[in-house]
Amino acid sequence: MELSADQREFAEAIRGFCAQECGSLAQRDALTDGGTQSNSREVLRKLAELGWLGVSLPEQYGGGGGSFVDECVFLEQTSRGLAPITAYSTGLTAAQTYLKWGSEDQKKTIVSNLVAGKLEAIALSEPGAGSDLGGVRLNATRDGDDYVINGQKTWISAAHIAEHLLVLAREDVTGTKHQGLTLLMVPTSTPGLTMREIQTMEPHTVNDVFFTDVRVPAAAVVGQPRGAWKQLMRGLSVERLIIAAMSLGAAQRSLEDLLAYVRQREQFGQLIGSFQALRHRIADLATDIAFARSFLYDVAHKVDAGHEDALASESAMAKMRCTEIAKNTALEAMQMMGGYGYAREYGMEGQVRKALAPPIYGGTNEIQREIIAKSLI
Ligand SMILES: Cc1cc2nc3c(=O)[nH]c(=O)nc-3n(C[C@H](O)[C@H](O)[C@H](O)COP(=O)(O)OP(=O)(O)OC[C@H]3O[C@@H](n4cnc5c(N)ncnc54)[C@H](O)[C@@H]3O)c2cc1C
Repeated sequence: MELSADQREFAEAIRGFCAQECGSLAQRDALTDGGTQSNSREVLRKLAELGWLGVSLPEQYGGGGGSFVDECVFLEQTSRGLAPITAYSTGLTAAQTYLKWGSEDQKKTIVSNLVAGKLEAIALSEPGAGSDLGGVRLNATRDGDDYVINGQKTWISAAHIAEHLLVLAREDVTGTKHQGLTLLMVPTSTPGLTMREIQTMEPHTVNDVFFTDVRVPAAAVVGQPRGAWKQLMRGLSVERLIIAAMSLGAAQRSLEDLLAYVRQREQFGQLIGSFQALRHRIADLATDIAFARSFLYDVAHKVDAGHEDALASESAMAKMRCTEIAKNTALEAMQMMGGYGYAREYGMEGQVRKALAPPIYGGTNEIQREIIAKSLI
């Protein structure tokens, strides 16, 4: 699928923005407290002023009213441009669920927050419930007009900087493990909610979140009480494509930085880009990225045509392949840049660190393969 002239112009404009605002390591360090944070409020504010945040969200709630393909262009290009806004994608994912199942108030709040550069988070995983979310134990008990929530979530991206958590809780322990689950919109400022950073190989992104008698009104339920499983399953195709689009941009960036390097580094009296041992591998990387881009935009186009519910397998393919291409491209580029690939100054070590988590989150790639296999066998 070809991008339209407007979409190509949009992509160019984002590339220009990223080059200007966060093109150098010094700029990115200044925006992220020396590389210790993964999101910059300043960059989000500027993107909000340009009207680019929430480009695909419905106009009636304050969004840009564009297509999902437009959103993929935004995600791919901001990722390629190393814009420190990774939590935006988490909010965008949360928005899909609110838009499908939430109340008018919830939709307005979430969309207006995202377009203004505020962040939203999703709290599904628990210490005992990762791939198998049916194991969720965080308890939500109805108490008059309220719910009282107790328990723990873990691995919650951006919880420490988000306005709300979209929380998956267990309201009922009778029935099967997929019954009795309820989604709740919980403001992060609610008393009884505390967090702790999980230290990882990346800047501060993920958190443990603890709930001690956290009280929210019944109006905080998103969709149907005890109906969360069905609701969540319907939002996953877009979540996978959001991760795929960001990974595609990351892969493209790694390839471009590698190309710039092999075009100027000389050894044995010649450019290292002239060695066939490197040239053929670079050709393979470029081919993988080109195929992935075609496939991803084709699936995104099907989302715009209203076929989202039929895209479980294709979206799993896109997530699995794009995240693996991003990881492989960064690792290969590091190797082909020699010692300089390992140095922070040249950026590839950051690309490697960033490429390791996406095959794990948003449903591990083993789970994506299960989804694909289920559609085949
Ligand atoms: C950086 C990061 C950000 C995250 N952000 C969020 C967030 O914002 N919100 C949130 O709720 N969660 C988030 N997560 C959690 C993430 O979704 C889980 O880590 C992921 O779903 C896997 O769960 P787990 O870590 O418990 O691994 P497990 O489920 O214990 O899996 C361990 C291994 O077993 C494999 N495995 C498990 N079941 C099967 C099976 N049936 N078939 C084959 N293989 C299987 C897995 O693929 C994996 O390799 C994040 C995680 C990371 C690392």
